[in-house]
Amino acid sequence: VEAACRRNGHRVERGDTLFPGSGERWPVLAALLRAHAANVTRCVKEDHLPVVIGGDHSIAAGTWRGVGAALHQPPGLIWIDAHLDAHTPATTPSNNPHGMPLAALFGHGSLEMTGVDGPDLDPKRVVLIGLRSWEAEEHALLEKLGVHLYDMATVARHGLPTIMRYALEIARGPDGLDGGLFGISLDLDAIDPHDASAVGTPAAHGLYANELLTVLRGLVYEPGFCAAELVEYNPRLDVAGHSGRLAVELLAALFDQGATACEYAEQIHGAHNYAPLPVVLSYGRGSSLWDVEGRRYLDFMSAYSAVSFGHSHPRLVAALTAQAQRLTVTSRAFHNDRLPLMLARLTAMTGMDCALPVNTGLEAVETALKAARKWGEKIKGIARDNTEIIACEGNFHGRSIAIVGLSSEAQYRDGFGPYPAGTRLIPFGDASALEAAITPHTAAFLVEPIQGEGGIRVPPEGYLAACAEICKRHHVLLIVDEVQTGLGRTGKLLACQHEHVKPDGVCLGKALGGGLLPVSAFLAKRELMDVFTPGDHGSTFGGNALAAAVALEALAVLEDEHLIERAERLGRRLRERLKAMHNACVAEVRGKGLLIGVEIDPARADAHRICLKLMQRGLLTKDVHETVIRLAPPLTISEAELEAGIHILGEVLEEASRLPDAA
Ligand code: PMP
Repeated sequence: VEAACRRNGHRVERGDTLFPGSGERWPVLAALLRAHAANVTRCVKEDHLPVVIGGDHSIAAGTWRGVGAALHQPPGLIWIDAHLDAHTPATTPSNNPHGMPLAALFGHGSLEMTGVDGPDLDPKRVVLIGLRSWEAEEHALLEKLGVHLYDMATVARHGLPTIMRYALEIARGPDGLDGGLFGISLDLDAIDPHDASAVGTPAAHGLYANELLTVLRGLVYEPGFCAAELVEYNPRLDVAGHSGRLAVELLAALFDQGATACEYAEQIHGAHNYAPLPVVLSYGRGSSLWDVEGRRYLDFMSAYSAVSFGHSHPRLVAALTAQAQRLTVTSRAFHNDRLPLMLARLTAMTGMDCALPVNTGLEAVETALKAARKWGEKIKGIARDNTEIIACEGNFHGRSIAIVGLSSEAQYRDGFGPYPAGTRLIPFGDASALEAAITPHTAAFLVEPIQGEGGIRVPPEGYLAACAEICKRHHVLLIVDEVQTGLGRTGKLLACQHEHVKPDGVCLGKALGGGLLPVSAFLAKRELMDVFTPGDHGSTFGGNALAAAVALEALAVLEDEHLIERAERLGRRLRERLKAMHNACVAEVRGKGLLIGVEIDPARADAHRICLKLMQRGLLTKDVHETVIRLAPPLTISEAELEAGIHILGEVLEEASRLPDAA
């Protein structure tokens, strides 16, 4: 902790270590609390920032009165704890003072604990986080006082960073940034026992250590911060030293100036529509990423396939910078000299007749839906406003209103209706369901060859070929969404080529922009694309010269570096090595090429927790669909990097199988 403080430019002085004297428990405690409070008061008066390392939580009855005495006013307090610690001798089931300090700080309880010099805390400026174990009497007391209580269910609902933001506001009080001083009291038992076991009264299902580290990072630089306390570490229970190391890390994080600034700024100024892992990245090269503290990670996520060529591929960066100095955006009011080259190469490689360039994947899908509807009316002869599109349960095609209208995921839809009519969902992987769902109004069937966001779900062999045959027979368009699976990811240029399927329309995106820009496209046979006439559809940035130059070079790199074969070969190796681990937590390893899903048995381990552990060991990826770990490194990953990743995966999965999560 001292080293972390110095690293961040602080001077450190060690205070006294106090031990309880001998004699009767309560008088000994009273003397200890008074001596401790006097030390804290002196420290604050000398303009130092006290960092109290307990002891059990009863020490808090001295710390915060001591702070208040120095400030001549009670500080606000963020109290992170599994328990309420708000018993009095009249309500306690155990008579243990470590269950009483918070009540004492409000003036309730025995004189030994309440009689320390300093003001009572103001309950309106006290906030508890991480609660999951209490008795009714103490809960009633805190509620009556008006203390803010955030239990684990609330933390799970809002996310710890959001709760921490509320907590800062509460603890600073009405003066806010202009004055409200506050401190933090951290009971290690707030943390999940898997992460911190060496505590006296553990309670299951607590805060993830990693997430707590993130929100604590840099907290001392928050305006008004005046004192910190960490308690309930029991070295006798800490045989392997994990909890002790974590305690040090938590305290050191308070002084860390690196990532916090970014994470807080994003929380405060941004929308909360993502829940990123607690890592702030600032540099990427190839398959490696570095965070703001200089830690290196292997990227096994590739930005959902957008970084299939690795980070800042030199040829792509060169194409980008050269084009940026010539011509970038002119809109489609005019021709530019790059777009035709890109369209020609893309259609030649895929064997599709023509392509319509857009920016993001969802635009490619929207384009496909519009084309299919208009084709349905104008070519197939479906009555006006009567076309139907069939899609699959578990799909992910993007987030526009029309597209979430196709989703079977309740959260994606909730609150965003009404949705366009004319859509129908069938189970994924069941060709006979498609045949049964087709009506004379059906214009198109939209499907991902492998469902990416749905959990890397691979349909039974022959599925797509059967669907293609059914569509053809019923004069229904087959449109494949290859935004994630396309451009070599699965070991073929297009994933539909695994079954020699030639669709009527293809959506491409992500990797097409070379990991540098959003570039997507809808590819189609001529008859379908020709339903669009000037003014029907378009986008200001779609097909701009800069995007076209980068996409053109990306397609060239894909071929020149033989990345499709590489994805097939390295993907096979990764899957085989994962299967050979015979890990008890792993229910299934599936996927094609370098799009791999590791299904974690939820009764044995938690996929999100495994991803946090992987991150700690230097491998970045995210869980998908709660129980699946996505493994999708750049197609350019070296064999040595792949081996390093397999090694980390092996260690973390092995550890997860030894320490079952189900408490
Ligand atoms: N389709 C598929 C299959 C996808 O995986 C995604 C993105 N995950 C999209 C469409 C949407 O792409 P974008 O985020 O670029 O809009």
